[in-house]
Amino acid sequence: MSDSKPITENEIDDKGIMAGVEKLSPEKIERVINEVITAETGAKLKVYVDTCVHCGLCSEGCHYFISRDRDPKFSPAGKVKQTLWEIMRKRGRVSPEFIKNAAVVAYTQCNLCKRCAMYCPFGIDIAYVMSVMRRICHKLGVVPLYIQDTAHSHSVTANQMWVKDDEWIDTLMWQEEEARDEVSNLRIPLDVEGSDTFYSVIGPEPKYRAQLIYQAAMIMEAAGESWTMPSSPGWDNSDMCMYTGDYEMMERLKKVHFEAAIRLKAKRIVMGECGHAFRSVYDMGNRALGWKMPPIPIIHAIEYYHEIFSKEKIKIKKKFDRPVTLHDPCNIVRGRGLHHMAREVVNATCKTFIEMTPNCEHNYCCGAGGGVINCGPPFKNERVESSKAKAEQLFAAKAKGAEVVIAPCHNCHGGLEDIIHHYGIDMELKFLGDIIYEIMEIPE
Ligand code: SF4
Ligand code: SF4
Ligand code: SF4
Repeated sequence: MSDSKPITENEIDDKGIMAGVEKLSPEKIERVINEVITAETGAKLKVYVDTCVHCGLCSEGCHYFISRDRDPKFSPAGKVKQTLWEIMRKRGRVSPEFIKNAAVVAYTQCNLCKRCAMYCPFGIDIAYVMSVMRRICHKLGVVPLYIQDTAHSHSVTANQMWVKDDEWIDTLMWQEEEARDEVSNLRIPLDVEGSDTFYSVIGPEPKYRAQLIYQAAMIMEAAGESWTMPSSPGWDNSDMCMYTGDYEMMERLKKVHFEAAIRLKAKRIVMGECGHAFRSVYDMGNRALGWKMPPIPIIHAIEYYHEIFSKEKIKIKKKFDRPVTLHDPCNIVRGRGLHHMAREVVNATCKTFIEMTPNCEHNYCCGAGGGVINCGPPFKNERVESSKAKAEQLFAAKAKGAEVVIAPCHNCHGGLEDIIHHYGIDMELKFLGDIIYEIMEIPE
């Protein structure tokens, strides 16, 4: 079982939230709320709030509600009731104590996974409503400490993990050297102009999972890809500012990322296996910058893997022979519809594929999404307790024989890892890239 603190009702052990709340005054709260609601939300928020008939049909769509004994406060509508409904009803005249609780609900009790929107007869998007609440909290300076630290890192270094420029280059050189033990002339090409593919990753890859860059280099080499990575900022495609509600910083980060690829005259960006980063370039960040679609073609790793298998660019020695199941990351499944492609890649690479139920666009979030895992240890126990529905899915897939869970998203990995540990589910986690690297024919 988890070693983090037990859940204590109404106790908020987060220095970021508490320090922010101490600086609030009723006047500041009312001013900021009215600024956001009048200048930033337009008709959308009002329509959502006015249209909701409180029918509760969305409740069964939310894994928090299902996992927490169907407590109405964890239902999507219940979360809006504790936040924006009350705020709009009182025209922003709410107390610092109210903002403190609203911050906990918006940042840590909703993964912004959009599952509930599929079950609302009016298509009300609660994730959007929670994002507005987060935006208000950001502007009030009431943000959980851990996620705010990643946002600070983004603002200083343009990456999430305080990786310095020389550390980034050193990591790539180190991975290139390692890979050369397998393929003697392998390169991780830096700053090559006019490549077909600009490859970008999230901040934690060079920091904690550098072998994923190694694997990507091997896959690109095997596929005969013309590719490059930048030596300077723009390599990190992640975006916790999108989740704290710091949209100004989100725009800056997306610009740095897009411009790095455009400066190198790349034909497209291929992103590593991350869900939220994809949402930030394909949905929120690009739109905030005024582009309906990204200014340069962008594909997720699933689409890239699908391309190399459908065009027979790489050969495999034999299929991965342990039974696998697949976790559908919300941001690339509900957000982009990549579930069919993901299954085609899994079937091309694995011998036995066991579906989790529900799956595809109906899949439950891993509990980490929307920056909830980035809110850190104070909320960890509550997060895994709220993922009981996901744990049950995993147990059921295991009972059918699945030994390995494939999760093509970094945050999902983190979330599922915690669930597997907390509930004692004996399963192994892998990225699609892990599987492909393990079974592919290594080039001469
Ligand atoms: S967006 Fe996801 S986590 Fe948030 S209320 Fe809806 S279903 Fe629940
Ligand atoms: S299903 Fe839609 S209308 Fe019903 S409570 Fe949920 S958000 Fe409101
Ligand atoms: S972490 Fe994964 S499962 Fe959870 S919201 Fe993000 S993409 Fe979805």
